[in-house]
Amino acid sequence: MMFTENRGMSSTISLPTCSCCLRHIMPNDKCVKFNCPDCGADLIWRCQSCREAARNYTCSSCNFQGP
Ligand SMILES: [Zn+2]
Ligand SMILES: [Zn+2]
Repeated sequence: MMFTENRGMSSTISLPTCSCCLRHIMPNDKCVKFNCPDCGADLIWRCQSCREAARNYTCSSCNFQGP
């Protein structure tokens, strides 16, 4: 993962967003990211809690839903 170092007090650093629960994924989150298995264009992020809960994700490009 590539996170630009932020030395300021700003909390608006660009964190990836979980494709399941749409929450921001923290750098220490045991998340996974992979390309959409259907269209391959979109990068799917799943946060740790969604992995453990096995929630479905939805591709924002083709609306493919999968585990
Ligand atoms: Zn999530
Ligand atoms: Zn897709």
